[in-house]
Amino acid sequence: MSIAGGVEKSPSRGASIHSTAMQIFVKNNNRWEGPPISGPQAAAFAAELKKTHIPIDHVFAHTCYLINLASTKPDIVEKSVNALVDELERCELLGIPGLVLHPGSHLGAGIDAGISQIADLCQQVIERTPNVRTRILMETVAGQGTNIGASFGEIGLLLKKIKNPKRMGVCLDTCHIFAAGYDIRSEDVYARTMDEFEREVGFKSLKAIHLNDSKHPLGSRKDRHEHIGKGHIGEEAFRLLLADSRMARIPMSLETDKDEDLKEDRENMATLYRLAKASYPP
Ligand code: MN
Ligand code: MN
Ligand code: ZN
Repeated sequence: MSIAGGVEKSPSRGASIHSTAMQIFVKNNNRWEGPPISGPQAAAFAAELKKTHIPIDHVFAHTCYLINLASTKPDIVEKSVNALVDELERCELLGIPGLVLHPGSHLGAGIDAGISQIADLCQQVIERTPNVRTRILMETVAGQGTNIGASFGEIGLLLKKIKNPKRMGVCLDTCHIFAAGYDIRSEDVYARTMDEFEREVGFKSLKAIHLNDSKHPLGSRKDRHEHIGKGHIGEEAFRLLLADSRMARIPMSLETDKDEDLKEDRENMATLYRLAKASYPP
């Protein structure tokens, strides 16, 4: 949900599409710095959220897109660490339990070097934010270019290297795992993919889900989101996921194109509720 006009404006937007969960940015998503969130703003966010059906533990944030913990450029690494610390502190102030992060792009240094650097820097960030409870949620990515985190094995290895499991977690993006080559379109392949997720990452680490269909085919490694049921993934995968008891308490958000009137969000929500055999609006 957009935070245009301030983070405290997002809950009413969520309520307008009958949300029970929500993802927001905690500052401008294309800038290194932003004005701090004031105490009154945080209080207004909490008060606005209370008027909705969105509990705070179903709210999660997404980091700005400039952060790259696997960068080979020292100035980018330093800015990335500082930005991640700042965003975690913003989340803590708002009471948000999870902050979604793309693991990073190694820019040619190699996957192993990248994973080690990301783990070391996450460790530093965690140690610099001892009073923050917000988890860093590593997002599964599509695998474009030198992006790390397209395989469950890479995400699992990253988590294992970090000493504070209570500060870490995972966000599963359906478009990204499909583009990375994990099929979920029928019962047998869905089961195989999720078994591998359990083996390599573990459902106990799963703290957020992005529900997106894909404009590109299985294994394309291209990250383009499509409306639910309208892309190469199709409705059956979402029906299977919504019926999967391991996903039942995990907050989910859409990341699909929309206009300001949120008509597309309502349409995607209606599709998901139909697939979950529930009525929408609830
Ligand atoms: Mn993302
Ligand atoms: Mn995503
Ligand atoms: Zn994406």
